[in-house]
Amino acid sequence: KMTVNDFIQYFNQTKDRIYKEKDYVTELDSATGDGDHWVNVNKGFEQITSGLKDAPADLTFVDLFKNIGMTMFSSVGGSSGALYGSGYVAASKICKEKKYIHELDVHALYDVYHAILVEMMKRGKTEPGQKTMVDSLYSALQAYQEAMDAEKSEKEIIMAFIKGANDGAQATREMAAVKGRASYRTDKGIGHLDPGAITMAMQLESLGKYIL
Ligand code: ADP
Ligand code: MG
Ligand code: MG
Repeated sequence: KMTVNDFIQYFNQTKDRIYKEKDYVTELDSATGDGDHWVNVNKGFEQITSGLKDAPADLTFVDLFKNIGMTMFSSVGGSSGALYGSGYVAASKICKEKKYIHELDVHALYDVYHAILVEMMKRGKTEPGQKTMVDSLYSALQAYQEAMDAEKSEKEIIMAFIKGANDGAQATREMAAVKGRASYRTDKGIGHLDPGAITMAMQLESLGKYIL
């Protein structure tokens, strides 16, 4: 089970992970985009974690995700700001709807990330297979769902989730971009990894490892 405080710790760990990946992520977005993806995501995590420093002890998931969504919208540029912003606002809504207030069990966690996926696809007018951040999240949730359906242990579910996230990101290498800057290129970015999918996988892997 994840508490709000666990999530705050997960965000702190992920901020450190993203921070270290500056050169790699910048290189990826320079190859097929405009090179700012690391700056955008890194700024997002810096703002989120600094905003959460004096979070009240009784903060709910509804407010946590709403705050994060608003932070992403207001302080992060590029496609990522709008996509993560609307994704986290959707996460807040599902927590309100399903009364996920102080704890997320393995099923509730799935619901939250599924809500983020659906909203990102809607906002980005995209679907899996189009070489975006959605590809990592979709693949992670497919694996998560399959592991839940097979009644695997919680540990196995989370390990499948991590593997799915990374496999989905790696699969973008062979995809032709339909959305985002890589789609403006004549080669559609084929042969290059999508930077947004890679940073999504870093976040999901970091979440999974936190839970394990
Ligand atoms: P920008 O392209 O505006 O500079 P970023 O560099 O921060 O924004 O983010 C680029 C990433 O955003 C891409 O690698 C891709 O994963 C994702 N992306 C771009 N457009 C879309 C979209 N329409 N739907 C989903 N993801 C998208
Ligand atoms: Mg960019
Ligand atoms: Mg940009």
